Amino acid sequence: MSFAADIITLFPELFPGPLGASVIGRGAAQGHWSLNLVQLRDFAPDRHRSVDDTPAGGGAGMVLKPDVLAAAIDAVAHQNDPRPRLLMSPRGKPLTQARARALAAGPGVVIVCGRFEGIDERVIEARNLEEISIGDYVLAGGEVAAMVLLESVVRLIPGVLGKDESNADESFENGVLEYPQYTRPQSFEGREIPAVLTSGDHGKVEKWRREESLKLTRARRPDLLK
Ligand code: SAH
Repeated sequence: MSFAADIITLFPELFPGPLGASVIGRGAAQGHWSLNLVQLRDFAPDRHRSVDDTPAGGGAGMVLKPDVLAAAIDAVAHQNDPRPRLLMSPRGKPLTQARARALAAGPGVVIVCGRFEGIDERVIEARNLEEISIGDYVLAGGEVAAMVLLESVVRLIPGVLGKDESNADESFENGVLEYPQYTRPQSFEGREIPAVLTSGDHGKVEKWRREESLKLTRARRPDLLK
């Protein structure tokens, strides 16, 4: 069974975007994962197809209506659907590599993309939505955040990356940042590839990479080492 992503959005035309390119797009073509886009507006019951309304209590902007969102969610995920229901939200739990890996091992995701000021709190409770953030800044909508999440997850689905594109050594996988990478030419504007990397001594290469990883992590992201 392959990984199934359903995305509820007012802007389905933004997809697949980067999710259609390179290894991620190839992964879909090969059946490792699939993307189903749901236009939220299709679930508006009224003649004007309105999906939002003014915030209770006053204030700027508009809020996505709970009844419309609930109808869209119910259309793609019945009660026993095992997939997590995620709401892209700056208030959410920060996305991590560990979470991406856990999601990649599962059956898929249902993702709600917010817009405007956000969505009515009651549908978050009533449909058990888990809020996920991609960082401490505010976007105009959840679509780019959903792409970020899916791109980080899909590349971890077994078979999506070829064996030449493995991800075992990557940043965050071992709790540290990745070591510096080099390729030919041997000399670039007077800068040489570190000699140890061309020495042919695999033990020394391993040790050098471990040390460089730690050095970088200590300098840039000491929080990862705590
Ligand atoms: N008023 C809200 C922000 C609304 S931004 C607040 O202050 O929390 C509009 C939509 O963009 C959100 O509903 C969410 O879906 C998306 N979004 C914005 N920033 C995001 C982030 N850092 N991570 C994930 N989604 C985000």
